[in-house]
Amino acid sequence: MTNIKKRLISIKNTIYLAQSSSAKQGDSVTLLAVSKTWSAENIHQANQAGQRHFGENYLQEALKKITLLQDLDIEWHFIGPIQSNKTKEIAAHFDWVQSLDRAKIAQRLAKQRPENKPDLNICIQVNIDDESSKSGITPSELFSFAHQISQINGLVLRGLMIIPTKTGHEEQQRIAFKKAYSLFEQLANQYPTVDTLSMGMSADMILAIEEGSTMVRIGTALFGQRAKPINNNTKLSELNNE
Ligand SMILES: *Cc1c(COP(=O)(O)O)cnc(C)c1O
Repeated sequence: MTNIKKRLISIKNTIYLAQSSSAKQGDSVTLLAVSKTWSAENIHQANQAGQRHFGENYLQEALKKITLLQDLDIEWHFIGPIQSNKTKEIAAHFDWVQSLDRAKIAQRLAKQRPENKPDLNICIQVNIDDESSKSGITPSELFSFAHQISQINGLVLRGLMIIPTKTGHEEQQRIAFKKAYSLFEQLANQYPTVDTLSMGMSADMILAIEEGSTMVRIGTALFGQRAKPINNNTKLSELNNE
């Protein structure tokens, strides 16, 4: 068994246990494998082991991998900051965009979505800690922004994505997650298409699931520590030597 397969099994087990101990009686939790900096070969292995959802942050890096792996059954999620001049390729090659926080970008994605593709799945990125330095719209802007998005043909509003500030304090982390869950619940009551609360990464996935996450975005725990600076060519052989 490959290391990736072993880790996938272990992560799924962690998700299952966290869900079992969660007070929330939600749907099952989807695992998004965050494959930024990892090779097409690494993604292929995870896919062979049953993983379907992959998240990428950098467009040029992602496009190479998407092209190489086009015959596989994979759903691609864009989870990085979006510049206007990147929307065309994102609309053409991704199934989800989780980092939407500007109406102008939404309009462009919709207009540039190829007609033979289903509506693009959208999660609105919310700046849950309301810090001016961070991406995402503020909680107070969420409902008017969601209304705008829901009116755009070619997009389907699926939910929210949050990246809370790392505090190291479990209780503070929980407060951010609870706040996100409450926004998600209100949104889901208004829009029947909303079913996704994307929150939780390698370090805090258990907490996030206990607080109602429906999608965890996992990189490090699955593929290993990312090389710094970002190295596109990291091979599985290096990963196995950890
Ligand atoms: C890199 C990244 C992740 C994965 O983080 P890990 O700590 O490696 O699990 C999740 N979400 C976003 C938005 C990321 O950029």
